Amino acid sequence: MRRLRSPHLALVLACAACASLASDSSTEHAPERAAPRNVVLMIADGFGPASAALGRAVRGAPLALDGILVGSITTHASDSLVTDSAAAATALASGIKTYNGAVGVDASGAPVTNVLAEAEERGLATGLVVTCRITHATPACFSASVAGRDDEPEIARQQIERGIDLLLGGGRSMYEPVERGGQREDGLDLLERARVLGYSVFEDGSLLGEIDALPALGLFASSHLAYDVDRDPAVEPSLVEMTRAALALLARDEDGFFLMIEGSRIDHAGHANDAAAHAHDVLAFDEAVAAVLDFARARGDTLVISTADHETGGLSLGAEVGGVSYYEWDPARLARASASSEAVWSEIESGADPTSSIRARAPLDDATDEELAPVLATLEVDGGGRARAFQNALSRLVSDKARIGWTTHGHTAVDVGLYAFGPGAERFRGQHDNTDVARLVSEMLGLELDAR
Ligand SMILES: [Mg+2]
Ligand SMILES: [Zn+2]
Repeated sequence: MRRLRSPHLALVLACAACASLASDSSTEHAPERAAPRNVVLMIADGFGPASAALGRAVRGAPLALDGILVGSITTHASDSLVTDSAAAATALASGIKTYNGAVGVDASGAPVTNVLAEAEERGLATGLVVTCRITHATPACFSASVAGRDDEPEIARQQIERGIDLLLGGGRSMYEPVERGGQREDGLDLLERARVLGYSVFEDGSLLGEIDALPALGLFASSHLAYDVDRDPAVEPSLVEMTRAALALLARDEDGFFLMIEGSRIDHAGHANDAAAHAHDVLAFDEAVAAVLDFARARGDTLVISTADHETGGLSLGAEVGGVSYYEWDPARLARASASSEAVWSEIESGADPTSSIRARAPLDDATDEELAPVLATLEVDGGGRARAFQNALSRLVSDKARIGWTTHGHTAVDVGLYAFGPGAERFRGQHDNTDVARLVSEMLGLELDAR
């Protein structure tokens, strides 16, 4: 946490002066000139327009996001109309278009700076809160520069040297050497390195509440944190719990803060075409949005932005099943689900009776034996393909029964929603490109990004 004065404070003061002038003269005050002290950028990975409608219907009430919808963004990469999370997060963090797989580098492979790094440089406190490995593509683009997103050991090595005040999520294995049960083959122990750099290091999610000073590193799982529908609250904190902790810690900095929060696994559930896991992770993300909005409403100096890097799965509400086009879909089924397809598979692997487990947890209590047959048949598949075959078949049946459609196990190019609240939120209104998000944040905080 460097202690330089930041230029955005001067902007805040200028605006306060302008506001008082406006009260006793006819001087026009443009409210969009107000500069935020803090910026919280929330990224729901793989959250498309249908994800919002899905979450709202499954909850049976509006989302916190619904109240702050201002527009949408295009998401394409420099080399493809369908982006991956790395190119998209580089756009959101650095304001440039780059190729799929690129982490914090431009289309020629040259490293670029990003809003978090520049905020850190200007003395703001900074944080990353995610539910995936902290070295995964989205947080990586705010904390490292590498040519390819799969180089997670190098991403970890860079991100712990960047002076980021708070990192919360999963991905301990990328910080620990093989000898200590991690995946690093270079022998580096980055948890130890973090301690040397002054970080308090937490590996136990139940100790989240004990983080009382920055810098702090909390890696609560060896890989990704669990889908929210599968999460054991005694073992792993929720996204909203990590969010509240981060806001309380970062708000202590008198220079303000920049915080990126990612609902990382909304995307993974989309890849798996697992409608129940997707819905519950969307709702967990929205709880974090609600907590950030409570914080921002109470203070008045915090700009909250939420968007997605891209849509995942080609999710659709209403589908043709068995040749019939249904004019209905069944959110209540997803609300009742108590496990992802992945967790049902683990349960069966651990000895649970397949039919009871599927009926109770998916939930498919009303499925006929005929409907369950293709799912149960995958248990006879030989070898390593069995897990995938089972989970795909189960997710397919749940989606069919709920009349939910998917077009792909990958990403799509549809525009995704843009949400904003607080000082400067008006500037996000309308249709934008994903690079505009970084440019606007940078402008409002008085930062300088690399020109492209
Ligand atoms: Mg991500
Ligand atoms: Zn994805």
